[in-house]
Amino acid sequence: MTRDPLAAVRPEIRALRAYRFEPGQADVRAKLDFNESPVDVPAPAKAAALAALGARRFALYPEVGAPRLRAALAANAGLPPEQVVPSNGSGEAILAALSVFAGCGGTLLLAPPVFSLYVQMAAIVGAKVATVPLVGDDFRLDEEAFLAAAAKGERTVPLLCSPNNPTGGVVSRDFVRRLCAVAGVVLVDQAYVDFADEADDLLPILPELPNLVIFRTLSKAYSVAGLRVGYAAARPDVAEEIGKAILPFSVDVGAEEIALAALAGREEVRARCRAIAVERERVAAALGALGAKVAPSRANFLFFDPPGGDAARVYAGLRARGVLVRDLSAAPPGALRVSIGTPEENDLFLATLKEVL
Ligand SMILES: *Cc1c(COP(=O)(O)O)cnc(C)c1O
Repeated sequence: MTRDPLAAVRPEIRALRAYRFEPGQADVRAKLDFNESPVDVPAPAKAAALAALGARRFALYPEVGAPRLRAALAANAGLPPEQVVPSNGSGEAILAALSVFAGCGGTLLLAPPVFSLYVQMAAIVGAKVATVPLVGDDFRLDEEAFLAAAAKGERTVPLLCSPNNPTGGVVSRDFVRRLCAVAGVVLVDQAYVDFADEADDLLPILPELPNLVIFRTLSKAYSVAGLRVGYAAARPDVAEEIGKAILPFSVDVGAEEIALAALAGREEVRARCRAIAVERERVAAALGALGAKVAPSRANFLFFDPPGGDAARVYAGLRARGVLVRDLSAAPPGALRVSIGTPEENDLFLATLKEVL
């Protein structure tokens, strides 16, 4: 008898549920479940990037540290390149930072409901998780409780998501300053900040806060979820430490070329994000008029509790009619998250929701 290999798996990993998703159905009419951009990288930019990619020698590794991409991401962020660590999606940068700061017995401090992958990341790096739940109908951060929990020493690492997935709320610059004053290091995931207000962007206060690390991604606003580019931004020496936890060549040349093209379309991206924010407010008002409880959001999605409170049934009804939203009804507070799509997709969502209700 050989030994059972599963007995050799770390218990923290065994306890995780694999990230699974119901397979997509053929007749999807509106895909509003992953907060992706409803439009692709513009065709001319895509063609140019593919041509540039075709001219590269695939036999060669990418340049170490992806200097071209790093320079372009840094310019876009208004930072010097030494403050930016490119990664294979921002998820890789967050995982790297967690392993650097909280790995092997540290504590990751979260404010749930929040992005479920953070808990998976904590398990991967061997960190414990502590939580200070959001409060109120509008899912506000319990600022004083979070500050108290964050002030427990270097091995307690607060990770905030702002705007928060799935609720859409933001933390203020002043709160981040206060948090940086009490915690060893402060991590903030800003995957959705392109859809928020200018004052919600924390990059401008990075120079004054040596222990702040910000994560950004091209997966949402920049329409590049399929090619996997994100980054961490931090003080140069902190950025270097985070970079040590990312393997060389993690951003491949295809992702690099498409990312460079997407970044060049920044003005168009900004205009589209503003349009999505306007649509978000329109959809929120329409959901409210239908009797749903909607959390105020600064992201490209809305967190809502449908009237009647049977989120799982509403999810299934929408899905059966080809409208995909995210079912978050299994965990409290038990609600749905819908991404903001094109005006047509949003109308289809609202009309289908009425039908289901
Ligand atoms: C979508 C998302 C990201 C982006 O992840 P990538 O790895 O960059 O695609 C990061 N954080 C949150 C909370 C997200 O919802």
